[in-house]
Amino acid sequence: MNIIILGPPGAGKGTQALMIKDSFNFVQFSTGDILREAVDAKTSIGLKVKDIIAKGDLVADELILEIISQKIADNKSEKGIIFDGFPRTILQADELLKVLSDYKMKLDLVIELAVDDNILLGRIETRAAENSENVRDDDNKSALKKRLSVYHKQTRPLIDYYKKHSDFVSVDGMMEINEVSENIISILNKRLN
Ligand code: AMP
Repeated sequence: MNIIILGPPGAGKGTQALMIKDSFNFVQFSTGDILREAVDAKTSIGLKVKDIIAKGDLVADELILEIISQKIADNKSEKGIIFDGFPRTILQADELLKVLSDYKMKLDLVIELAVDDNILLGRIETRAAENSENVRDDDNKSALKKRLSVYHKQTRPLIDYYKKHSDFVSVDGMMEINEVSENIISILNKRLN
């Protein structure tokens, strides 16, 4: 079962993707985590994307697609794949469907985590205040504003795209984390049974 978790920055995609991974024994890919690891390891990709990420802009589609295609190829026999933070553009979404079909796989479900922008700004500020030593380069107010505006311009159109192309569900991401998780688990159980 292959799933996308879609939603604005700070909506809790990473937390819920890891929860699904652990609950259902799926694999999970976060393109943000993969890129941050490359930045920390100072690989050639890392050096290329460091400033783009810090500003809150999107990394080039080609680079992301190369990374994800390889991950799909390496994990095509898994029970399920969860895509977290990918796709973020219509081009990435089109290419994902192509790559999956190349491997006789399909996209089974897209879960949107719906969260209000004002709540997101508050969450990010709390994250920065609570964890000042280990804060992400792009977890400051100006980068977050940029990330939110990039989300609305480039990623939000994917909601209509997936309403047409896929099984799509929207989950209220403003509830307590464990309530969001319970909702997602029950949605997945319905589809798996
Ligand atoms: P995230 O941890 O998902 O919020 O991603 C952090 C940053 O990594 C984003 O603001 C982008 O700069 C970059 N990034 C992650 N995933 C993608 C993607 N699918 N397409 C383009 N850029 C991405």
